[in-house]
Amino acid sequence: MKKKKILIVDDDTTNRKLLQTILSVKGGYEVIEAENGVEALEKLSPDISIVLLDLIMPVMDGISFLQRFKIDKPECANIPVLVLTTDDTKKNEALNAGAKEVIVKPINPIEILEKISNYV
Ligand SMILES: [Mg+2]
Repeated sequence: MKKKKILIVDDDTTNRKLLQTILSVKGGYEVIEAENGVEALEKLSPDISIVLLDLIMPVMDGISFLQRFKIDKPECANIPVLVLTTDDTKKNEALNAGAKEVIVKPINPIEILEKISNYV
């Protein structure tokens, strides 16, 4: 069976590495990484099953990515986006912008794999 693809968008290298390990080693997913919203828009493609999105990033933040991707890439409009953030004051803003869920960091491997399995 072909591995399902997940796009991780986070400016923090440590976070990306942690997520990459959890998702590929424990989850068996193929992982693609982007450092900000602009890079995520470039890498987003219809074969991606889910996007994990940080909110606070340089160049283009997570809320802007949520607002832009359905317009810029309509073929990807149905891809679910889960937001991972330390700042839960932005939770409603993220949900209003189209995020399926907002998960508050620090990342819990079991929780994150369980949440992803509800969507892929
Ligand atoms: Mg960040």
